[in-house]
Amino acid sequence: MKAAILHGPRELRVEASRTPEPGGGDALVRVAAAGLCGTDYSIFSGDRRVSYPRVMGHEFVGRVEAVGAGVTTPRVGDRVVIEPNYSCGVCPLCREGNRNLCLVRTAIGIDVDGCFAELVRVPVRCCWPAPAGVADEDLMVTEPLAVVVRAVARGQVRQGETAAVVGAGTLGLLALQVLAARGARVLVVSRSTRRFALADELGAAATHAVADGPLDEAAHAFSGREGIDCVVETAGTPEAVSHALALVRPGGRVVLTGLPHEATAVPFFSVVRREVTIVGSMIYQDEFAEAMRLVAAGQVRTRPLITHRFALDEIERAFVAHREPAAIKVAVVL
Ligand SMILES: [Zn+2]
Ligand SMILES: [Zn+2]
Repeated sequence: MKAAILHGPRELRVEASRTPEPGGGDALVRVAAAGLCGTDYSIFSGDRRVSYPRVMGHEFVGRVEAVGAGVTTPRVGDRVVIEPNYSCGVCPLCREGNRNLCLVRTAIGIDVDGCFAELVRVPVRCCWPAPAGVADEDLMVTEPLAVVVRAVARGQVRQGETAAVVGAGTLGLLALQVLAARGARVLVVSRSTRRFALADELGAAATHAVADGPLDEAAHAFSGREGIDCVVETAGTPEAVSHALALVRPGGRVVLTGLPHEATAVPFFSVVRREVTIVGSMIYQDEFAEAMRLVAAGQVRTRPLITHRFALDEIERAFVAHREPAAIKVAVVL
């Protein structure tokens, strides 16, 4: 089979590779469509170290090509969406249901080989049956969608509330749609106005560029009160965290999904004084089914986020495209 193999930082080559053998409990999946994200880019660039050689890629849809001994579901030929993280299943965190927090969690495309290849071996417990009638490309974004489904649930967003999304990338534009599906009126805040037309099309009630004026004033104007009920931060920078805190109302909630690697200054005086609830949200626990349901029901539109498509042989161009300002979601289609 062909696979894009990373031999070291920025040393990515599409090569003939040995087809993985599915063991007991595994499926061999033929990749149909795969998404590229910032995590892949940070591995590609060497900012995030992995053991080499490594096949990257963790957002994907495909068809079961073979299964290991004793596997009854999925069956050969089934179309599946892959949940690309699996936990140990036996530690106290896993046993209490917090498998996303497991300290020895395995991430496909990071710790083991992923989907920038014709075939991938995955544990069958990572395979979700794809809803009939929903195209591969529409389901390709299920993984990041599951991230924001959880984030919105962690924010306990209710019908009729105001919400804000900080960041207008893939996660921000998905969070906007999940919040709208939950009945919130959504303000999209971004440093750039580039995605605002799309945000409007996907259901934003308003948009605000950071340079356009103070965020607390924008939040007051949008909410008609002291600020926004629930703010979902998706940009993963220290500035975005402070933007979220500027937008939220006293007694409101801030959900953090981004992972800022730099130290982040938080004015805890104003957190305490205003009784702001700050919650982290880490990937997903059981949100894949709901993410696929939202896509199948047309409540979340994923296709408009796919700005670029490349064949596996052109994967280096896909990584270049990912950095272009016009790129939202870059797809590798097989
Ligand atoms: Zn990703
Ligand atoms: Zn565990």
